[in-house]
Amino acid sequence: MEKNRLGNTDIFVTPIGLGVLTIGNTQLDLPLEEGAEIVRYAYEKGINLFDTAQYYQTYKYIREAFKDVDMSLDNPDRPVIASKCLDYSYEAMERAILECLDELGIDRIDIFKCHEVRQEPDWSNRAGAWQCLIDYKKKGIIGAIGVSTHHVDITEMMADIPECDIVFPLINYAGLGIRKGDGPGTPEEMEAAIKKCLDAGKGVFAMKAFGGGNLTGTYMKSLNYVRDLGCHSIMVGMGKKEEIDDLVRYAEDELPEDYQPETRFKKIHIDQGDCEGCYTCVERCPNKAIYINENGLADVNYDICLTCGYCAPVCPVRAIIMW
Ligand code: SF4
Ligand code: SF4
Repeated sequence: MEKNRLGNTDIFVTPIGLGVLTIGNTQLDLPLEEGAEIVRYAYEKGINLFDTAQYYQTYKYIREAFKDVDMSLDNPDRPVIASKCLDYSYEAMERAILECLDELGIDRIDIFKCHEVRQEPDWSNRAGAWQCLIDYKKKGIIGAIGVSTHHVDITEMMADIPECDIVFPLINYAGLGIRKGDGPGTPEEMEAAIKKCLDAGKGVFAMKAFGGGNLTGTYMKSLNYVRDLGCHSIMVGMGKKEEIDDLVRYAEDELPEDYQPETRFKKIHIDQGDCEGCYTCVERCPNKAIYINENGLADVNYDICLTCGYCAPVCPVRAIIMW
């Protein structure tokens, strides 16, 4: 599979990457060997970019999948691993980096990011975490640093931050999940912000091309839209080998324009019998897709839910399930 240079970095990635979130405990919760097999299969099929996060608790799968692979810089075909951390302080980011290296069994990682940066003052509040990333890049322990975000404002801002190498924005043709300020943003606004990043030499890989599964019914249109924006890679959460096969064939231009895979939609369900109406999931959802209903319990607005699964682990009574 061809590889794209990630902006001004020395990192080359395949046009499709594997989002490792899907196999972890917020979504499919696969047993170790089964999840590792998905990661290994993607790599053997030619995919070289793997994105995870401290929050996803999926390092074990990656470590198991690549236990026999030379992960050093000497291996140009090594998997490129990207991780990220939600925390704000220098100390918490440092702990997250060291935890990542330890759990993956490596002494250097290609990409580390501030996770899910929201509109100001969220970025300013992360000054400590960002300084930590800068310092660890200087030490050679991280290859490139950046942010993941659903926000037009932050994507745009990153184009002007010289230390930022990588931007991981949310984009899909329908605009599902795009945020701007306190409200929704449009695809056109995010397109312009992404272009600004690309013009500034940032490496850009995109998330939610399928709007969390809601756009899988327009498979080719969804992928073509993001690819045509010039993003260096499209990160897709995949939990099945058939999904990987399809995306590899897409990256190699082997799919007909009317291709449509068999899809089964998964959804978040909130057990109203267990929910205690504590608001924790409402505050956690990055897409404002959970609300408290007339009975004082949590409910999901399926029109805007992106099936990211971020809400499930925060529920103290395990009332949130994805199936
Ligand atoms: S309701 Fe849960 S799965 Fe849906 S967008 Fe919000 S956090 Fe993600
Ligand atoms: S976190 Fe759990 S208990 Fe609290 S409101 Fe959400 S679903 Fe209900």
